[in-house]
Amino acid sequence: IRVRPLTCTETRRGDRQVVHSLGDGAVHVSAARHDATFGFSAVFDAGASQEAVFEGSGMRQLVELAMDGFSCTVFAFGQTGSGKTYTLMGPLAQSETRPASPALLGLMQRSFTCLLEQSRSRGSDLALSASYLEIYNEQIRDLLSPGPPCALPLRWSKTRGFYVENQLSVEFESLEAIVSLLLQGSQRRRTSAHALNRHSSRSHALLTIHIRSRAVSAHPAPGEGWGASACPSRQGTLCFVDLAGSERVKETGSSGELSVEANSINRSLLALGESWGTRPGSPAGPQQSPVTPFGAHPPAGHCISLLAKPRGKRTHIPFRDSKLTRLLARSLGGSGITLMVACISPSSRCLSETLSTLHYASRARRVTTRP
Ligand code: ADP
Ligand code: MG
Repeated sequence: IRVRPLTCTETRRGDRQVVHSLGDGAVHVSAARHDATFGFSAVFDAGASQEAVFEGSGMRQLVELAMDGFSCTVFAFGQTGSGKTYTLMGPLAQSETRPASPALLGLMQRSFTCLLEQSRSRGSDLALSASYLEIYNEQIRDLLSPGPPCALPLRWSKTRGFYVENQLSVEFESLEAIVSLLLQGSQRRRTSAHALNRHSSRSHALLTIHIRSRAVSAHPAPGEGWGASACPSRQGTLCFVDLAGSERVKETGSSGELSVEANSINRSLLALGESWGTRPGSPAGPQQSPVTPFGAHPPAGHCISLLAKPRGKRTHIPFRDSKLTRLLARSLGGSGITLMVACISPSSRCLSETLSTLHYASRARRVTTRP
């Protein structure tokens, strides 16, 4: 959980701070008729630096696991303005002319640095490439391809699983190169934010780093799970997902575009919530890894919404419910490891969205998975 500081606007208009970290992963919400404490793997409050979030969230371990061949995903979830983009990228979106101070760089840039350092120190011959997509109204756009935006089709094949046709994947070898790809992509996302109202808070952005060992790249084994062999596939991925704002879009007076948007977002988020594998509270299960709130086990793909139901009744894997979950099917259902960062505002005005984010995160946290 990451709680951002009150913004200047919030302070100026006298919003009260209703969220407090109690230490040891506990977070307390207190307001007139609400008084609740939630427990998580880690809580970062307003004073936490970007570095503290990187080191304390298990992000470094996630990068290492991706290098070992796992499909790793980090999600930033929360209402618009709660700090998702700040957590992932830092305040770079705000200043185009001046680069952000290194201390403010987000999880993405820190992960890139870690990845490149590790790659050098391991002396392994790794090929790194990046793709950057956006899902808006259930349409997939390539944020790296030049020219006017056009929707790309999502396909499925036996060897590749779900993939985006004609998606650009750009090789990189240096920090400068990957940071420049990130900037280009987020710039493209922002450009449409001006054209289309509230675009960036209504779209999901997925930056995926593909890590291929050159030696074995001729024989990728995407479907190979942990059960199949002791050694995971040597093609790892590290995917950063900046989710659309989780707030309810008011349906009042919404017609056409807005209601389509609302439906698409809700479908994605619901499907996402439903597609994590579950093993509620099984004491015989493998130990929860400190890396993720979900446990570092390849999800079997049961439904979070079916948590309460007896095991025998959980059968349907709703990956097909949205483009987002289809794209992330391997991360969520193959040899996937997931870190979710739920972002919240401390302001009294955001109370109901904050509670809803905390409830969602609590449900997600209870999910553990089996190979
Ligand atoms: P989101 O992506 O969830 O819509 P942003 O990341 O754009 O939200 O954050 C909203 C505002 O709050 C931005 O002005 C951002 O700079 C600021 N902000 C968010 N998190 C922090 C933080 N941890 N420290 C300082 N400012 C923050
Ligand atoms: Mg954002």
